[in-house]
Amino acid sequence: MSYQTHLFIDGAYEGGNGPSLPAHEPATGRLMADVASADPGQIDRAVRVAHAAFAGWSQTTPKARSLALLRMADAIEDRAEALADVEAANAGKPWRFVKAGELANVADVFRFFGTAVRNMPATAANGYRSSQHTSLMRRDPIGVIASIAPWNYPLLMAAWKIAPAVAAGNTVVIKPSENTPLSLLLLASILSEFLPKGVVNVVTGNGPDVGQALITHDLVRMISLTGDVRTGRAVLKAAAGETIKRTHLELGGKAPVIVCADADLDRLVDTLREASFYNAGQDCTAACRVFADRSIADKVTERLSTMIGSLVYGAPQENDVEFGPLITAAQRDRVAGFVERARGAGAEIVAGGKTPEREGYYYEPTLVTAPITAEIVQKEVFGPVVTVTAFDEPETALNWANQSEYGLASSVWSRDASLAMQIANRLEYGVTWVNTHGVFATEMPHGGMKNSGYGSDLSMQSLLDYTQIRHIMLAS
Ligand code: NAD
Repeated sequence: MSYQTHLFIDGAYEGGNGPSLPAHEPATGRLMADVASADPGQIDRAVRVAHAAFAGWSQTTPKARSLALLRMADAIEDRAEALADVEAANAGKPWRFVKAGELANVADVFRFFGTAVRNMPATAANGYRSSQHTSLMRRDPIGVIASIAPWNYPLLMAAWKIAPAVAAGNTVVIKPSENTPLSLLLLASILSEFLPKGVVNVVTGNGPDVGQALITHDLVRMISLTGDVRTGRAVLKAAAGETIKRTHLELGGKAPVIVCADADLDRLVDTLREASFYNAGQDCTAACRVFADRSIADKVTERLSTMIGSLVYGAPQENDVEFGPLITAAQRDRVAGFVERARGAGAEIVAGGKTPEREGYYYEPTLVTAPITAEIVQKEVFGPVVTVTAFDEPETALNWANQSEYGLASSVWSRDASLAMQIANRLEYGVTWVNTHGVFATEMPHGGMKNSGYGSDLSMQSLLDYTQIRHIMLAS
């Protein structure tokens, strides 16, 4: 199979002048393609064409942009099979989930922002200083957005960035992860059928060279990152260079799952089957650390262990597969390292805990009981690993959750609505689910607090994040 491996700048593909980087198939370790990297001149040109395209695109009507996004959504659905083939192979995901779930969500995101832009709260007209002064509030696009995407949901994360930015009238230069560039390079030409040249550009390459040159470019007005906390710091430094840039940061997570004594354990275990292990746990909202009331902690551990024993993992095209390999050998070894260090730190490996003997970057679904102080309970593992820690009072679990450096996703499990709400209201997390976990609605904001970053993806709030509020006053 051949893949699109060239950069996409000003409406056309072009070879990269930087060193090429290999894109692998995590299920086998096989090389899929050598992918072009942009050199500094190409990054500069991509930003300049986006800057030039902004002059026209920012002046189009919400109706025109809406129509473009709605057509993109249809085109993504029409091409979902081809996109799913590339995404599943390069990111190591079960093909059936990519096609039916992730690609459907990608299309939905374009459709949502195509609709939202015609409903954006914008103007308020009033005379505030005197009857001779009329004030208007406008929401205008910002300019060129540098978007930096991760490898765990290459297309979906790109959609979360491109759709609101373009709907709001901005232009974009986006860099996919060096691990998973192939699906976005294919998507670029699909989107460009409905856009003027230069509105969406894709540059590929690594973070320290290509990403860094992109985010520090003087003509970039806003940087939007989904990635690691460390990369978030690099973005904040870049934003305070020669020019002041806006930032939008979706960083790591370590989601607590607070299970009260009266929780519905059937529902908990059914939900965590997907919420903890989808995408091999490489998900910033993954339900990865369970805090269970001591009176039920053993039962929770036993039930989770049985569930984990029945999980099916394997290659994208295998039947009934629930999750695939880790993204790289390095990521698999990183996960294995967390589990090995936990063994020596008072933790017990209840299920899994090994690298299976097979090709590809797999790691067994793993359950660990561990004290709250253990590294594996505190740090983001980003793999198919769940910990269970017992608490005596819900207040203790709440404090453990809030002491975390992260603040992205969390859940509370109780049949007592009042107790659940008391905990949910006090959790310092951007999203809290009650009696479920990992369920997204495109209409609702997704974003973090503390080291998980700030700014919203999805929802009207995201569209607003990609606009600048302005005041115009007319004196009559
Ligand atoms: P990463 O930060 O290593 O890489 C993300 C992107 O940043 C890549 O494209 C990379 O090339 C680029 N990058 C790295 N250094 C850069 C620099 N100095 N300048 C510019 N770009 C640079 O993260 P990853 O390993 O790809 O993704 C995993 C991380 O992303 C996890 O921590 C996960 O929690 C987080 N994540 C968060 C969300 C969310 O919504 N909060 C969603 C998905 C993933």
